[in-house]
Amino acid sequence: MRKSLRFIRPTSATFLALWLTTVTASAQPRGSFTAGPVTARAGEKMSGLMQVPAAGDEGTTIPISVLHGARPGPVLGLIAGNHGYEYAPIIALQRLLAQLDAKQMAGTVIMVHVANMPSFLRRTIYYSPVDGKNLNRAYPGKTEGTVSERIAYQITKEVIERADYVIDLHCGDGNESLRPYSYWDVNTGGPDVVERSKQLALAFGLDHIVMDRERPADPQASIYCSTTATTRGKPAITTESGALGQTDHASISRIEWGVMNVMRHLKMIDGEAQLVERPLFIERNEVLRSTATGIFYPLVERGHTVAEGTPLGYVTDFFGKRLLDLRAPFSGEVLYILGTPPVSQGEPLAMIGQVSESGR
Ligand SMILES: [Zn+2]
Repeated sequence: MRKSLRFIRPTSATFLALWLTTVTASAQPRGSFTAGPVTARAGEKMSGLMQVPAAGDEGTTIPISVLHGARPGPVLGLIAGNHGYEYAPIIALQRLLAQLDAKQMAGTVIMVHVANMPSFLRRTIYYSPVDGKNLNRAYPGKTEGTVSERIAYQITKEVIERADYVIDLHCGDGNESLRPYSYWDVNTGGPDVVERSKQLALAFGLDHIVMDRERPADPQASIYCSTTATTRGKPAITTESGALGQTDHASISRIEWGVMNVMRHLKMIDGEAQLVERPLFIERNEVLRSTATGIFYPLVERGHTVAEGTPLGYVTDFFGKRLLDLRAPFSGEVLYILGTPPVSQGEPLAMIGQVSESGR
């Protein structure tokens, strides 16, 4: 030891020490990343089941994956199955999990494969078969609530609060015939979050973008999954691709492409992101609800352009007597319309959006 140092002059020794310090700092291994029960080291892809213990009602599990890139970068949360009958996003995440290589990635992806397991396994639309609640109205959730509220709480704590960006992946529910679009929350999180959320929507690739002005601003009463992110200062969007419980290739691959392009946009994977060139911003929209319980007959299809007053469908009682006629309240495009007969009073029958190219 002494012998080897003897021939190094003090100036060289100082230089060597500095060089060693620099090398050590840049070679410091990237730490691991944990979400729920899953820990992944740099370059690893790990999966596991997050437990939601039984409380006043039954417990459940939430399957999640962590893909921890070899290089530093943002954390992207991808959540599928808030509605358990919305299959296209669930299958898209299965494909993305197989395709993505954490060794080639910067940053981290957290995937929630099926947020609402009770609804998925028991095939219910909108509502949990356990507590009758809509999971995407139960955020940010609570530890001592019913199972939907406890699921929401776990996703808020272990996924949304650990992410920098969130995409809540939906499609038309089991009864909804829907054309693809995304929701851009134009109100919550402040101007920077709003602008970066818009960029997420443009990167996801769906050209119809609903400007959503009705999301709450209180992080403790965020209600929706994506609003739980924006009210916590994290850009987020809700996307809709797929419908009617189908697992068609077009709807699924649209989601896959959208996630990959968002990852290019956030510099998490190589390649140039392509943003929607001619977005159609929907400045005005209305969800048309039924004032009657009975059988619904649609008269138009998803994606149709309708003039104000156009008949969209009607509801009869169980003997064929017409109870209500549904008409377009303003001219616009049919974003979704019920594609199956049952309807209960207060439930949505259709959503109409008025397109403008101006944005705001
Ligand atoms: Zn949904």
